[in-house]
Amino acid sequence: MGIADNLSQVKHSIEEAAEQANRDLCEIELVAVSKVHTEETIRPVLDTGHRIFGENRVQEAQGKWPALKEAFDRVQLHLIGGLQTNKVKEAVGLFDVIETVDRPKLARALAREIQVQNREVGIYIQVNTGEEDQKGGCLPAEADELIGLCRDELQLNVLGLMCIPPAEEEPSLHFAFLREIAKRNGLSKLSMGMSGDYEAAIRFGATSVRVGTAIFGQRPKKA
Ligand SMILES: *Cc1c(COP(=O)(O)O)cnc(C)c1O
Repeated sequence: MGIADNLSQVKHSIEEAAEQANRDLCEIELVAVSKVHTEETIRPVLDTGHRIFGENRVQEAQGKWPALKEAFDRVQLHLIGGLQTNKVKEAVGLFDVIETVDRPKLARALAREIQVQNREVGIYIQVNTGEEDQKGGCLPAEADELIGLCRDELQLNVLGLMCIPPAEEEPSLHFAFLREIAKRNGLSKLSMGMSGDYEAAIRFGATSVRVGTAIFGQRPKKA
């Protein structure tokens, strides 16, 4: 099956999951995760009319997306990988949504740069719900304070929360936990769920699912 077929199948599964959860389909967006894939692979997805994409590395995205953004209008590019402060300038110049804000230093650098470039950039606070050492995201206990800093002091456009559950754990617990943190902070958006668990994430309130493999196929293993 081609990539366009995969995409429509994922969209269909999202519809079914939304219906089963009694949720409005229009409150659930699909971020097509195109990391590792080339411009030529991404184009057919753009040709179907899909416009929301996710990339995890600033430098890689810079190599392919300026041309694609030029060729297709209304593209909305999400950064879903960790961001270092020395890449903030490039990230703000290219991405429309940054989903991985997880520390005050990064938040402050983003706020400054967004003002300098006068761009509209939405952000998500990433929460490390499994408290894994190797994973990005603020600790759950730090989330309220970081949200407050971003929203109230730095006046960032905080859309919601994002998480990547530990690979070997039942993701639903993490989805429910993220939803709880969002709720007590009055945030309405939840970026959670990937190829293996996006239907479950929708049952737990995901408003944005990030799907790569189910659309583009297996990513080549790193050499
Ligand atoms: C790669 C990636 C995804 C997509 O994962 P798949 O399992 O390929 O759907 C989603 N979110 C993040 C943060 C990723 O890095």
